[in-house]
Amino acid sequence: MIPSVAAPRSPSARAAGPSMPFSRAVDGVEEAMSIKFNNLIYDLERQGKRVLVMSLGEAFFDIPLFPMEELPFPQIYHYSHSRGIFELRAKLAAYAGREYGLAIDPDNEILITAGAKAAIHFALMAILNPGDEVLIPEPAWVSYTEQVKLCHAVPVTAPLGTSTFELERLITKRTRAIIINTPHNPTGYIYTRAELEHLLELAERHGLWILSDEAYSDFVLPGDRFVSLGSLDPAKARSIVVNSMSKNYGMSGWRVGYVAGRADLIYRVLKVNQHLITCPATILQLYLARHFERILEITKPQIHAVCRRRNALQAYAAELGMHSLPGSATFYFFLSIEPSRLDSVAFCTQLLLDHQVSAVPGIGYGRSCDRHIRVSVGTASDEESRRGLDTIRRLIDRTR
Ligand code: PMP
Repeated sequence: MIPSVAAPRSPSARAAGPSMPFSRAVDGVEEAMSIKFNNLIYDLERQGKRVLVMSLGEAFFDIPLFPMEELPFPQIYHYSHSRGIFELRAKLAAYAGREYGLAIDPDNEILITAGAKAAIHFALMAILNPGDEVLIPEPAWVSYTEQVKLCHAVPVTAPLGTSTFELERLITKRTRAIIINTPHNPTGYIYTRAELEHLLELAERHGLWILSDEAYSDFVLPGDRFVSLGSLDPAKARSIVVNSMSKNYGMSGWRVGYVAGRADLIYRVLKVNQHLITCPATILQLYLARHFERILEITKPQIHAVCRRRNALQAYAAELGMHSLPGSATFYFFLSIEPSRLDSVAFCTQLLLDHQVSAVPGIGYGRSCDRHIRVSVGTASDEESRRGLDTIRRLIDRTR
């Protein structure tokens, strides 16, 4: 079951020397399923195999490299403000105001850090105490549960199919926060205004934070309506909004994202940021601030093209008789592998090793998701993606 290609590069949990103490929190955490499978691809490619990649968590855009020489020198070499350079904070805040109706004071209600992933974790560190519970609906993006555990807190997941309006029954005295993701990875679902309002009502009634991960906020077609949680909580009483340059700007490798919220929360995130990373890379912040509008002009039409392809390919999967969960945004869909008898890891492993097509096992998104796989259409061509879906269909039929 474990692919042989994984063996040489899998980090070993086995003792390499005398028995030594390790963190129980870290030992209790799983590897990120999506990253684990993407690492397998790098291994196969090193062996000269060509893989049809439908597992990556990003879209590849055609973006130029603007001249680095124009950036302020020698400022590029040095630390920046620990909240992020003011110019970029101001541009991000203005953009969020214009596009999503978020009112963010760039002085003290936003902090730029090394990607949305760090932003979420630092925000969780700022609000959680050991033993606190965090409610997360499945499918749950691979890092939410593990980040909560790394904060010595307890993730409580709601199984796939639980409606937002049924979440209250999972709230206990120890619940401190709910994490949602809109638009949603891996389904492409966009939370409705009514759902977000209900979550804020729950937050009010039970004294909770709602952390809304909005990393795919621009991966929405013009006819669809994305509502930012923050726009419904102008006083920022209960909402924490996270966003990223990784997806919307096509710059995942630059590791730039942000968290926005009330000043007393962001001050606490600032302390975490100061002690863990000081600031995100100065040169990248300066570059993004300088070329902010131009990059968006270039990426926006490409984003919409990717969303349209996503919807066409989801429809193609349906024509092949493969059901996926409702959604129309992002570049993912969450495809059912019924009636295959394989679990999602065995299915994706066979798909990769025998057919050189990569997708992410649903189990990475929670125990209730083992009958699904995540398909990403961000990097392969239309024709290749159709071929990938044909291959998935055949594997389902062969393993039923
Ligand atoms: N949230 C979601 C839902 C994601 O899919 C990802 C990236 N896969 C992230 C956050 C992390 O984004 P970043 O690259 O900004 O850390």
